[in-house]
Amino acid sequence: MRVTRVLFLLSALALLLPTHSEAQFRRNTVPTIPPPTITEYNPRSTLVVPEHEVPRAKFPAVDLHGHPPTLNNPQAINLVISAMDELNLQVMVQARGSSGERLTSQIEAVRAAGYEDRFVFFTTLNLRNVGPGSGARIAAQLEADVAAGAVGIGEIGKSFGLGTRKADGTRLQLDDPELDIVWETAGRLGIPVFIHTGDPSEFFRPLDLENERWLEMALFPNRQFNDRSRFPTFEDLMAERDRLLAKHTNTTWVLAHMSWYTQDLGKLGELFDRFPNVHGEVGAVLYDLGRQPRFARAFFEKYKDRILFGKDSFQPDEYPYYWRVFETEDEYFDYYRNYHAFWQLYGMGLPDDVLQALYYGNALRIIPNMPTAGFPG
Ligand SMILES: [Zn+2]
Repeated sequence: MRVTRVLFLLSALALLLPTHSEAQFRRNTVPTIPPPTITEYNPRSTLVVPEHEVPRAKFPAVDLHGHPPTLNNPQAINLVISAMDELNLQVMVQARGSSGERLTSQIEAVRAAGYEDRFVFFTTLNLRNVGPGSGARIAAQLEADVAAGAVGIGEIGKSFGLGTRKADGTRLQLDDPELDIVWETAGRLGIPVFIHTGDPSEFFRPLDLENERWLEMALFPNRQFNDRSRFPTFEDLMAERDRLLAKHTNTTWVLAHMSWYTQDLGKLGELFDRFPNVHGEVGAVLYDLGRQPRFARAFFEKYKDRILFGKDSFQPDEYPYYWRVFETEDEYFDYYRNYHAFWQLYGMGLPDDVLQALYYGNALRIIPNMPTAGFPG
């Protein structure tokens, strides 16, 4: 018995040792010249492999997470349309949700420009100072905006859950019962709710030298959510969100940024298995998909009816990185934003049926009254 325990301890020690000595090595070995800083060191790759740039998506795409400028004038509309034409973006969802006159002025301007087949509009919810009666008031505004042409809600920003306060000064929790009527109304109207919750889990962790997002957190202090006196943990926030989903299983949900679960797709799979009405959107998480091309491809194949294309910030020259990761099997190529990721990307080589679901099929299915012109019949 005692021998077994000693052996067990020894093998546990052996498991610990490599990590320990590796850390010692890094700490004790001093370069003979002063090392560059994290922002200076930028080695170029010497790897020579086939390259396939993809300036246009293989199939016409819907950008569910569109943040174009306000589309209330022909100049803005034409600028966005010419970028969309080059990228093979057939429809953009204006996900900078707007309500009332800001919504209708854009719908009218797009129609006047003859592009009603290229843009659809989501509405927004005023979630500030929620108190008794707020839910009914917000639901009424939602009904009015949908009657005026909105086909979804969102993007609901991350401040819902992280910062938004109730009228009584407390944090508005994602599953606050006052808002139940709003989510039920969305379900009854058959429109999707596009919601961004939290941020990458590293933003909630200590800003130490093992944090994968050290540089981004140092560049943008407002992305640090690790002060426990101000913010819930990542896990608590997601649990709160899951209670919201569990209450509203007749509402169609799209979780922005794949719920920030792309560094643990298994967890996202569990969520998809638990809630058939829940979908994920791929904006701004390409760095995670492109570092696990085989696992991510298997995931996209398994859940092909649940994942939608979206880009987030409107930078036309960044879309082709998405096409390249999704469509090619290219290896070890640059990503467009170095503070997101200290690594290179690999192509997932998705098959056509998965690409079609990702690019437009799922969007045409879950968003009501989508224009169908321009998509393969
Ligand atoms: Zn967004």
